[in-house]
Amino acid sequence: MDMALVESLIAIQMGRCFICDEALDPSIDEIHIDHVIPRAKGGKDDPNNYAVTHAHCNLHKLDADLRIARSLSRYERLKDRYASQGPNRPNLGDFLTDLGGSPRPIGAMRSQDELMVWFPPDDAKKIRLPIYHDKLSNMDSVFLTVPLEYLHHDQRINPRAVGPRIRGLLNEFLSGKPQLHVALAWGVIEDNKLQVQVFDGQHKLVSQLLLGVRQFPIRLFLNPDVNLLLEANTHAGTTLRQIAFDQSTQRFLGSQLYWEKIDAFREATGRSSNDLGFSEQDLVQYFRGERREVARYILDDVRIGIIHHPENTLKDYIEFSGREGDKPLSYNTIEKTAFSLFLRKTPLGLPLNYKLELDENPRQLEKEQIVRLFGILAQTVYIGHYDFDVGANKLEERVRKGHPVPEGHLRAVRISREEVLFNLMRYVRDLVRRHFLMQGHAGVEDDELFERKFPEELWALLERLIRNLSQLPVWVNPSLSGSVFGSTHDHDYWKIVFETGQDRLGTKVLARPLNLDELIR
Ligand SMILES: [Zn+2]
Repeated sequence: MDMALVESLIAIQMGRCFICDEALDPSIDEIHIDHVIPRAKGGKDDPNNYAVTHAHCNLHKLDADLRIARSLSRYERLKDRYASQGPNRPNLGDFLTDLGGSPRPIGAMRSQDELMVWFPPDDAKKIRLPIYHDKLSNMDSVFLTVPLEYLHHDQRINPRAVGPRIRGLLNEFLSGKPQLHVALAWGVIEDNKLQVQVFDGQHKLVSQLLLGVRQFPIRLFLNPDVNLLLEANTHAGTTLRQIAFDQSTQRFLGSQLYWEKIDAFREATGRSSNDLGFSEQDLVQYFRGERREVARYILDDVRIGIIHHPENTLKDYIEFSGREGDKPLSYNTIEKTAFSLFLRKTPLGLPLNYKLELDENPRQLEKEQIVRLFGILAQTVYIGHYDFDVGANKLEERVRKGHPVPEGHLRAVRISREEVLFNLMRYVRDLVRRHFLMQGHAGVEDDELFERKFPEELWALLERLIRNLSQLPVWVNPSLSGSVFGSTHDHDYWKIVFETGQDRLGTKVLARPLNLDELIR
């Protein structure tokens, strides 16, 4: 290696690795020289297109293009730093803090149809902006360019984490494509100051931030009804499908809107701000025009309450932002299995605080008992078995090619398939249902089972059931990766296998059909 070249590149890079931005010391570190823009993308084989990196950074880079590899490395570092601090991190605010320090307000003064803004401490340079008035919504807004030091992230309207799909945007922006839609923000003028609260467009902002852009075009709503923006933004992602929200984000917003509705209901009916003496049905009744939406918000609040429950140990194994392959379960799978089987879909007629103090409130029980069930599943199948470094992506393909995969890991990934988990959860439901039947409670609807308190004996049986189901040899048999696990099946596929021991074509999958009594022995 040309040491003079290495030395000069290290000097240009201020002594830091191009990818990870940590110190680079040729006397200790193994060093690579690589093209910043890959040759395949038209990058020149010229020292101006060279960068020095740690050897391990270059070997494990996340993209052949070092500019993208460097941005993704930064993204991963922020993810590691913030992921433990909340459900939807890292968010735009985290990136702004990391790259621009703590945000400041801009200066703002409005007249009838003009807004004057400035960027303190530079108070001399005032910019005059025309105010656009929106006839139907009555909202006022301006368009302006804002340096990142003045951008705040509105976590309430936009609770989303920045996901790995910024990779696509990084490529897009690096190849010279412009940003098509401007980011959206709102702000309230107070004492000639305004905080620019960004609530839409964070992926576009973050990917450009990572590429070194320091200011962004923004549409700024002035003194808006923020709840109206929250609803508009939520509808855009749900009913109108303008924005591709992932499902867990929709749930999060729905849960927020549920509490907005509760506040509005309390105010309209002259209740105090902590009153819980009314029912879900009262709310649905009151907001008659939005009956379906409110019913969904109620359910979203339950879903979010379970997923982000502090004792939900399954959460670490659930991927929220689409499937990336690091984690075995997708949020979607949780919705289509446990949630679809166990959550009550219809609004309750009992007051929200019914038997709350006695720990016998139906919704509370539903949440806490599903969290406990998730804990058993996590303990039996995932914790200490699933290996994040091996991952779930194309695992069956790897097994087919003869790669060694630890049994516990293979089991966890196979059980995480929606069609498998759904049928395992059916046995859970059948066991709980049978328990209540034997107690003389006939006629309990399936989606109300978890609203009744399970005695400890039932929990012991559930643990045994899940352990026995997870010990079936089919989950660790590598020779089934081409056949049974070679493709995705419908729910009925595993129903038939469990009930008969064979699949539809008569192939033997289990030694014998499953039987609930044997499964709890
Ligand atoms: Zn490095």
